[in-house]
Amino acid sequence: MTFADFPFCSGIQKAIADAGYTTPTPIQAAAIPHVLAKKDIFGCAQTGTGKTAAFALPILQHLDANRKAAAPTMPRVLVLAPTRELANQIHDSFRDYGRHLAFRSAVVYGGVGQFQQVRALSRGVHVLVATPGRLLDLVNQGHINLSRVEILVLDEADRMLDMGFMPDLKRIIAAVPRDRQSLFFSATMPKAVAELANALLRDPINVTVTPVASTVDRIEQQVLFVGSSDKRHKLRELLEDAKLHQVLIFTRTKRRANDVARQLHEIGVKADAIHGNKSQNARQRALDLFKSGRLRVLVATDIAARGLDVDGISHVINFDLPNEPENYVHRIGRTGRAGASGVAISLCDPGERGHLRDIERLIGIRLSPESRDPKSVESTGERRHSGGGYRPSGNSGGGNGNGAKRRFRSRKPGGRPAHGGGQRDRRPAAARN
Ligand code: AMP
Repeated sequence: MTFADFPFCSGIQKAIADAGYTTPTPIQAAAIPHVLAKKDIFGCAQTGTGKTAAFALPILQHLDANRKAAAPTMPRVLVLAPTRELANQIHDSFRDYGRHLAFRSAVVYGGVGQFQQVRALSRGVHVLVATPGRLLDLVNQGHINLSRVEILVLDEADRMLDMGFMPDLKRIIAAVPRDRQSLFFSATMPKAVAELANALLRDPINVTVTPVASTVDRIEQQVLFVGSSDKRHKLRELLEDAKLHQVLIFTRTKRRANDVARQLHEIGVKADAIHGNKSQNARQRALDLFKSGRLRVLVATDIAARGLDVDGISHVINFDLPNEPENYVHRIGRTGRAGASGVAISLCDPGERGHLRDIERLIGIRLSPESRDPKSVESTGERRHSGGGYRPSGNSGGGNGNGAKRRFRSRKPGGRPAHGGGQRDRRPAAARN
């Protein structure tokens, strides 16, 4: 299948060619015909699968085929996203894919002044990309009227619920016309997300093309067992390897993100941190420097990095393991984008073993040895290959032979069923930042 098989207008076909896409990704192949047929979509897919184009391209086709002048304050398409970074990325995608079409778009999110956003809305918009809180503020002030929305998209619905947006979402859904098309995407499907989808969608087409574990399988995953006070040292050691050329590091808290970035900076590694306490400008600046390759390391908290779309990330390092296992999947999915390979390295201290076990259970891959005596594992050089076992990496590469710091690699895919997203009802605690 190629993009020529879709009945897109020439302007969209041209933009697809400009982007260098030749073959639709699985979610695009599965979703686009149904979106074009005006069906509701219930999509289980992560960022990195090409899901933005899966909804943006057919939406642009709809706008092109049903042209109307952009009405001030009255969008025809509303896309909701949990974070400003993701909202910006989606908006950029619409602009890229719609570059040969006459359509207007705007993006609104909190944390910045609303003046520019209001001005863009008053000029007229076809497509509005928004985070829920700012959207409602602007609706309440009369700057946005949702009564003409024809297509509603919820992207990363699970994350919106994690961040406590449920009450806002309910208000927004009540304000859009009943007679609309709804496209719903989520990386995971805990019960609360499925319930929201049920309330929102009419006779939806289910497109679950990426079970959680299959994206994970493409990424080489390593765990390094370290003492909690050894993490900084280990990180420096890892960064001596030039192969780690574009590195995203995750920490559990904003403060630790700052500390890690500062310490790396002090030893001459070009690093910066992004998290919720930084101004939007500072975050965007750091992101741009990172994307352009002028910053080698970006240190982030989970929320700040959500949806971050940088294609060349060579390594993800979990300086701290996440205590919500789903976040592990989100984190490591920042590398290995669009079919590329990637490496994820997790530093695990003794207090994080429980988190590691939860992650292994979720992804269905054993990242660490069961044996209490890892030495015996390495010396025999063989382990069972059944039941999702692990395989020692042999030479640990980054290692100094210190027996306390061992490295294991995940088993390559095969046999092990992906964790059924629908079976889980794991509701992460409210976002911490
Ligand atoms: P997304 O999941 O929407 O964040 O997309 C992930 C990345 O895949 C983005 O950098 C897109 O530009 C890229 N992408 C989307 N669709 C395709 C395609 N059909 N072929 C190649 N790359 C794509």
